Amino acid sequence: MIQIDRLHYRYRAASPPALDGVSLDIGRGSVYGLLGPNGAGKTTLISLLAGLRPLQEGGITLDGEPLALWRAAHPTAIALVPQDYAFYSMLTVAENLDFFAGVQGFPRRQRREHCAAALAFACLEAVAGRLAGELSGGLRRRLNLAIGLTGAPDLLLLDEPTVGVDPQSRRFLLDAVKRFAAAGGTVLYTSHYMEEVEAVCDKVAIIDDGKVLLAGTLAGMKYGGAAALRLELARPLPEALAADWRGRFPEMETAKTTVAFPEFAADALAPIFSELAAFGVAVEQMEYGAPNLEQVFMQLTRHSLRD
Ligand code: ATP
Repeated sequence: MIQIDRLHYRYRAASPPALDGVSLDIGRGSVYGLLGPNGAGKTTLISLLAGLRPLQEGGITLDGEPLALWRAAHPTAIALVPQDYAFYSMLTVAENLDFFAGVQGFPRRQRREHCAAALAFACLEAVAGRLAGELSGGLRRRLNLAIGLTGAPDLLLLDEPTVGVDPQSRRFLLDAVKRFAAAGGTVLYTSHYMEEVEAVCDKVAIIDDGKVLLAGTLAGMKYGGAAALRLELARPLPEALAADWRGRFPEMETAKTTVAFPEFAADALAPIFSELAAFGVAVEQMEYGAPNLEQVFMQLTRHSLRD
């Protein structure tokens, strides 16, 4: 549905690029995750897609049409749900929805239908008459989402939609994202939370310093890497064994009682356990397998997602 082609964006001529050649291909009816540390360029990309900022270099097409033309033909089809709360605290939930549906220019009947659908989608019927400013954090997030849905969009741009919510509301929001995509909608989902991305996204792009470091399916990212081995021993590796292993596994790293191998073939596992046993070294913990998304992310960006 969306083709993003070599986007470059600078806030000021002399500043480093916020986006530096970003290309992505986002399919209809999917949830696409955008993962990156603070300042990676996620919000900038979303702002360009939402039409809040003009394109500088590179292109965005939707169904083969340039973004500006597509937006002109479908003015309410792209909805941005921003990181910050974007509603009026002194209005009720229902009044907020009605207001935001109204500014998008829908006639009265359609406005009512869209608001009812958005209210039901976010399960906010019971609090429709409450002032938005009096809602809990989780309900505020749901109102933010519902407002995004008042235009009955095809494409939902969600910028960190679960920040500051309790686990139950987080679960609700993630399910809502999946329901939206299952009904044919497309979602671009930015998050710092690896578990969320793993729970809802079909594809993911890891972005840092304005560049896409890796993009693809979650399965490809998680299982594409070589299996690593990490052992926690009851005592430091005996020097004779360490010298032998260094010859056989040049990438081996040791620190106190930990031994780690960035790549380790499964058929070499049994022999090293026998060798440890022969030296009377017990293994207290073992981790073996391809890196998970968090580890892939850290390897690529050299920082944790929560930095
Ligand atoms: P976060 O997770 O913190 O929201 P992000 O991945 O969304 O980060 P952006 O907000 O897109 O990152 O920022 C990308 C880069 O552009 C950063 O270096 C940031 O400092 C810079 N930037 C963002 N907004 C502006 C602005 N209005 N003026 C100047 N520079 C900006």
